[in-house]
Amino acid sequence: MQKKFSFLWLAFRRLLTSLVYKVKREFSLPIKPIFINFSATYRCNSRCLMCNNWQRYQKDPQKVKEELTVADWEKIFKRDKDWFSSVRHFGIAGGEPFLKTDLVELVRLIHKDLPKVKIGLQTNGLEPKIIALKLKEILSFCPGITLAVSIDGMEKTHDKVRGVKGSFRRVLETVRIAHRLGIKEITAGMTVVKENHREITEVIERMKKLGIEVSFYPADQGEYYHTERKENRKDQVVVKSLVNTLEKFPGDYFKDNLRRILLGSSKRSLPCYSGWTSLVLDPYGEIKPCVLRSESLGNLKKEPLAEILTSSKAEKIRKEIKKCSCFSLCEVSTSAVIDPWDVVFWFLFKADKKTFLQKAEERLKAIS
Ligand code: SF4
Ligand code: SF4
Repeated sequence: MQKKFSFLWLAFRRLLTSLVYKVKREFSLPIKPIFINFSATYRCNSRCLMCNNWQRYQKDPQKVKEELTVADWEKIFKRDKDWFSSVRHFGIAGGEPFLKTDLVELVRLIHKDLPKVKIGLQTNGLEPKIIALKLKEILSFCPGITLAVSIDGMEKTHDKVRGVKGSFRRVLETVRIAHRLGIKEITAGMTVVKENHREITEVIERMKKLGIEVSFYPADQGEYYHTERKENRKDQVVVKSLVNTLEKFPGDYFKDNLRRILLGSSKRSLPCYSGWTSLVLDPYGEIKPCVLRSESLGNLKKEPLAEILTSSKAEKIRKEIKKCSCFSLCEVSTSAVIDPWDVVFWFLFKADKKTFLQKAEERLKAIS
């Protein structure tokens, strides 16, 4: 009973707070970020079909020297303490973040300077031994860290999509290690492409046996992925496969709406808060609004966050975003938490209420 009451109170508080965000968004005013998606490095040991980040330093090996160091980030967090004070979730991705030599120090810094944040690491799981060593150290000072691994099919398909033989076995080994080390939240992400769309259910079932929930979403394009591969969202065979699987999740806001959008029966009605409450940081300190838009709001090495977010350039980009529409998982999940009114209407008129309530409770607790 008490649990239910606290959930309802959290939901009510979130709805009230969202009104302030709505007004700020309406007038394109800046908001202190709450969600940071940080590409710690563009080094990558994978050879994925749907993302070319691994090619960046093959083409331009010197560019890696421009990645910001822990000392650079320390200066930035110190200088921008106030503007980073609202951050609650700091996702560290790549490239492959475990290839960043000073990853442990970087996590230590984020944990120390932004003590209220929940830190999440994403990995392709290709180097279980390195991951084990670094995770063990990280857990000694940040026991709440979460881990997300990529699973893009069953063994043969995953290896094909990831372009590295043996990568499926290595990612499962990484999951076993993470379990053994006691990481409480381990999830998996599956990027759906024409090579793996038939295996979504099989992957979900396989990971369920390991106690891991799988998020699956169609491949996106954009600067973040350094790729122009465009066919996936339009490939009718892939779309049909996705729709069939998405039908099994009528209580999941993202999946149910993605299904309707893919079918063309609905358009996105959730306001996007990229550039307001969520930001993407690249390894060089550039701030982008989201993983799909390539324009930079500014560079943290050159200017303070306050100046970047209050600049006329940022305001212009935010005005553009108000006209922009996509349905990308990482952004939808954050915007839906910040401004849950669309979720409320969907819940009242479209959702499978029982399964939805279970999910919503988990998410609210994660960010409160
Ligand atoms: S998807 Fe991840 S692992 Fe694959 S190439 Fe891109 S950054 Fe590397
Ligand atoms: S709608 Fe999509 S592409 Fe546009 S800003 Fe938001 S996340 Fe980025």
